[in-house]
Amino acid sequence: MGTDWDTTGDGTGDDVSNPNYPNYPHDPHHPDDATGGGVDGGARARRRDLAVRAAVERGLLGPSTPVVGLLDVVGIRESAAALRAAFDEVTAPGTPVLHAFAVKACPLVPVLRLLREEGVGAEVASPGELALARAAGLAPARTVLDSPAKTPAELREALALGIAVNADNPQELERLDALMRSATSGSPLGIRVNPQIGGGSIGSTSTATATSKFGVALRDEGAREWVVRAYEQRPWLTRLHAHTGSQGIPLELMVRGVAETYALAEEINRRIGRPQIDTLDIGGGLPVNFGSDDTAPTYAQYARLLAREVPGLFSGRYGLVTEFGRSLLAKHGTVVARVEYAKSAGGRPIAVTHAGVQVATRTVYVPDAWPLRIAAYDGSGRPRTGPPVVQDVAGPACFAGDLLAEGRSLPLLAQGDYAAALDTGAYYFAHHYAYNSLARPGVYGFAPDGSGGVAFATARTPQSLEEIVAESGGAHAGALATLRTPERR
Ligand SMILES: *Cc1c(COP(=O)(O)O)cnc(C)c1O
Repeated sequence: MGTDWDTTGDGTGDDVSNPNYPNYPHDPHHPDDATGGGVDGGARARRRDLAVRAAVERGLLGPSTPVVGLLDVVGIRESAAALRAAFDEVTAPGTPVLHAFAVKACPLVPVLRLLREEGVGAEVASPGELALARAAGLAPARTVLDSPAKTPAELREALALGIAVNADNPQELERLDALMRSATSGSPLGIRVNPQIGGGSIGSTSTATATSKFGVALRDEGAREWVVRAYEQRPWLTRLHAHTGSQGIPLELMVRGVAETYALAEEINRRIGRPQIDTLDIGGGLPVNFGSDDTAPTYAQYARLLAREVPGLFSGRYGLVTEFGRSLLAKHGTVVARVEYAKSAGGRPIAVTHAGVQVATRTVYVPDAWPLRIAAYDGSGRPRTGPPVVQDVAGPACFAGDLLAEGRSLPLLAQGDYAAALDTGAYYFAHHYAYNSLARPGVYGFAPDGSGGVAFATARTPQSLEEIVAESGGAHAGALATLRTPERR
């Protein structure tokens, strides 16, 4: 097929005036944002369109496999490179910088391996995520453990492996004390603080509110003094951690969180009289633009804003750890679902598809906070043409609210078409929700094949019915019926 991976937008494809995005026009000559470092959203849209068509032609997507997740490998590499470049630009030469991908954003081993190849480590928050990072071959020195509920066994394992740990609270620090008394460890250890700078527009992802469950609440009475003393008493506490950003948090607020964390490290080192804290972990949380294909804000914008507002952070006196998740993966994932039926109710056209709450849980349950763009493709996987029609794009689950999009203007979806939920590479199809025992879809990476076509690689095989039964207690079918109320004598 005549694929075109040209990123210059020479108009040879049918994508420049892609009818899928009437409300989000993309101009291939649009300069990257003024401060630079942006990823060309037009090129990404073209790669995506070609991948959808190729997935249909290749049979990855069709009547018997009506929903898949697609990952743009070129885009993931570009984002990783943009992240590295953004911090390279502002850090003093020789500064150790570890970019640790927050595994929860896309817990797939092949993704972690790809990022490892791009020089990115892993931030893990559970035994499962640590197992994924290890399966991907991540070195302990490039792994950070941050969960808010670490058990003694998890802490012991992390210290035995030499993985960095950020203690969430005083009780966890006591557990570390006990472990450090009984063994030596190469793990860099720190405390997570919550600078309590306030939340953003989405409550459930605001980590730095006054009552957030994360870290030591720095502005609570006596807390700052407790933190300083904790470091004074423990020469092995060499890191300080905060993660204040997320979707819905403005950059300025994120920067304030980092500034407060930096100021605390300076105060601790000054009071101890030596640079005991040698590394600052500034967390992740760069918000993602879900409204168009453009990358905004960019890592470069964030890094430059940090360099302007917190210049000491990049002086070379501190090593740095970052923990970006959503911003590395979101824009590189697309979930594509076949329209099983096209119907209408009360005058509203409804496309009943195979992607709903099981792959877009947040969007379905909290649609106002997590709207997704939908792209329409015809049965051969080409962008659907036609005037925009207000319609619902529904999922397959048995409850009324299972809608990917409600009242959305799109070319009218017909039976056998495909609806794609865009920007779903983080916290969407990799986070399967087993409602209605709907199967986990297959996930495939895609990239140019070098001869004008598209190459696919399996990142996750589709879940089989046998697996669903096994994971649903299939081996214990008779177990409950054996329990009986003892008979009275
Ligand atoms: C979730 C999380 C991240 C990643 O957040 P994103 O918004 O996906 O970048 C980083 N650090 C910690 C501690 C987290 O809990």
